[in-house]
Amino acid sequence: MEQGNPRKVIIIGSGPAGLTAAVYTARASLEPLMIEGEPSSTSDQPGGQLMLTTEVENFPGFPDGIMGPELMERMRAQAERFGTEIITEKVSRVELGQRPFQVWIGDPTTPEPTHTAESIIIATGAKSLMLGIEGESRLLGHGVSTCATCDGFFFRDQHIVVVGGGDSAAEEALFLTKFATTVTVVHRREELRASKIMQDRLFNNEKVRFAWNSTVDQLVGTDRLEGVRLRNLQTDEVTDLDATGLFVAIGHRPSTDLFTGQLDLEDSGYLITHDGSLTSVDGVFACGDVQDHTYRQAITAAGSGCMAAIDAERWLESQH
Ligand code: NAP
Repeated sequence: MEQGNPRKVIIIGSGPAGLTAAVYTARASLEPLMIEGEPSSTSDQPGGQLMLTTEVENFPGFPDGIMGPELMERMRAQAERFGTEIITEKVSRVELGQRPFQVWIGDPTTPEPTHTAESIIIATGAKSLMLGIEGESRLLGHGVSTCATCDGFFFRDQHIVVVGGGDSAAEEALFLTKFATTVTVVHRREELRASKIMQDRLFNNEKVRFAWNSTVDQLVGTDRLEGVRLRNLQTDEVTDLDATGLFVAIGHRPSTDLFTGQLDLEDSGYLITHDGSLTSVDGVFACGDVQDHTYRQAITAAGSGCMAAIDAERWLESQH
């Protein structure tokens, strides 16, 4: 257990939001402690979702693009340069009902917390829901993607499959028609969940095709995606489709389990913020995808991390 006075600020999570909050709070002499997560699984690791992407071409300042993991490494180095202390552990429990706030690492049943803090910045992000089929993780960044805005450009004049029937799938599919030869929307029912206006746009786009009542059963390709095998759920019929891109758009899950019952959450699980990065508990701030299901970009996450840092700094000043 860490001894001593409470930290001025603890940042939980280390994607672009958390690391930007770290740069700003460190430069404001708040000596932040960042608990960055553990590389325990491919979808829940330090650096966040950018660690799962290949080239990032839309982050300003990198005219030739930059690989996602390298961008995160640079942000991390920048946060450390100004004195952020980073520990590679996972938070197992928080108590936000009293001050200083309490944070546990490891066994959450131990009576004493591992760390205490006057303020907390939550930047735990969100995870794309995945199909869970063989080869999906291996081909992520090599044909399989969860972000059309990030990766669509690489699929010019190619055949692409989008899985899902909600607004995300519709938005991804429509965006991808700018590049692709065809976009096949694979949906497990015969009716889309997406809003009417998005449905109309899809139906009116001549590049868009539909595979109704279907799932992607198998991925073809060892180092790169070459095709998908579809299964019709009503007839059990199997169809092979040549495709170099598969965009999984079946929803996201914000990483908010730690805060359930302690902070106001939307029904969908996202943290509710107001007036910038403020949460329902004074002194607790949130930034990045954990509170944003609309934009979900590295640059918007970074921007909101900056906001959370400034909000935390001002709040701490107001307490003394
Ligand atoms: P969503 O509305 O939950 O839709 C998820 C879609 O994926 C559904 O069609 C669902 O099928 C399908 N799905 C779920 N699990 C699946 C699985 N294991 N295999 C195959 N298909 C699966 O999620 P979303 O599209 O990400 O949208 C989330 C929220 O953000 C919504 O409120 C949406 O309106 C909003 N949003 C808005 C915009 C916009 O306004 N521009 C853009 C994006 C998102 P079923 O339909 O059968 O359940």
